[in-house]
Amino acid sequence: MMQYLETLHGPYGQYFAVERELYRDKTEYQDLVIFENQTFGKVLALDGAVQTTTADNHAYHEMLLHPPLLAHGQAKRVLIIGGGDGGSLREAVKHPIERAVMVEIDPAVIELSQRYLPELSDGAFSNPKAEVVIADGCRYVAETEERFDVIVVDSTDPIGPGAVLFTSDFYRDCKRCLTPGGVLVTQHGVPRLQPDELTDGYRKLTALFADATFYLTVVPTYTGGAMTLGWASDEPALRRVPLETLEERFAPLDGKTRYYNPSVHQAAFALPPEVQRLLRRS
Ligand code: SAM
Repeated sequence: MMQYLETLHGPYGQYFAVERELYRDKTEYQDLVIFENQTFGKVLALDGAVQTTTADNHAYHEMLLHPPLLAHGQAKRVLIIGGGDGGSLREAVKHPIERAVMVEIDPAVIELSQRYLPELSDGAFSNPKAEVVIADGCRYVAETEERFDVIVVDSTDPIGPGAVLFTSDFYRDCKRCLTPGGVLVTQHGVPRLQPDELTDGYRKLTALFADATFYLTVVPTYTGGAMTLGWASDEPALRRVPLETLEERFAPLDGKTRYYNPSVHQAAFALPPEVQRLLRRS
């Protein structure tokens, strides 16, 4: 009999047929399942929430990494918080950076993703620019003396070990770890289903940064409509880099992306009134 993974609860549900279970166990931090689904390919779920799939992860990882890196234009050091499946690292090392440090709390996510979902990282873990630190990302940014041009928070939702990655203290420490003109990007869920997460994030980020907003991407497995990614910087011009400049910087990546291009980048910052209203509600 077919098994199903139910990933959302309450008035709106989502379930995936588990066509072939590849792995299921409890790690030190969370319940981890990897399975195959006809529509989405290989699927990784943590604590019952789908994290990534081989079919649509590019719409998430490309939009987390390329907008900040191409808007910045001269980034040398990138910090990824979370992101154990390696998809963010994969996109980061495509850029002419010196170092991408990934700080993941759960080593089992890295190990099992490399074993069962190698296409997610696509060799990025052995790229000489990549460095993996096993630690709580919140603690890492509170303690490190390193500075980064781009910080990307590729976290789980604000429950369990990921909850600390949505706090003002964490954002304040991220700001301290940014070089002047640096940018912080965060994942902030789907506003139709997680409206409070967006309002709360906007309030916290605008209190700390000269320029804070959200931009959109559409990842079918994060069901419920477009998802929001947070953008925070003390350099407002980063959000308004001209299309021609983005296109010049993107040229070496042209043909290597499936979702991102400079026009999508600029359009992603256009927010529907209902999302703008959620930002400003207090
Ligand atoms: N794409 C996903 C989403 O939007 O649902 C996120 C995927 S990624 C696999 C999330 C990672 O964040 C997980 O591997 C989890 O272990 C890690 N994580 C959660 N809390 C963390 C923390 N406090 N510090 C570092 N990593 C953390």
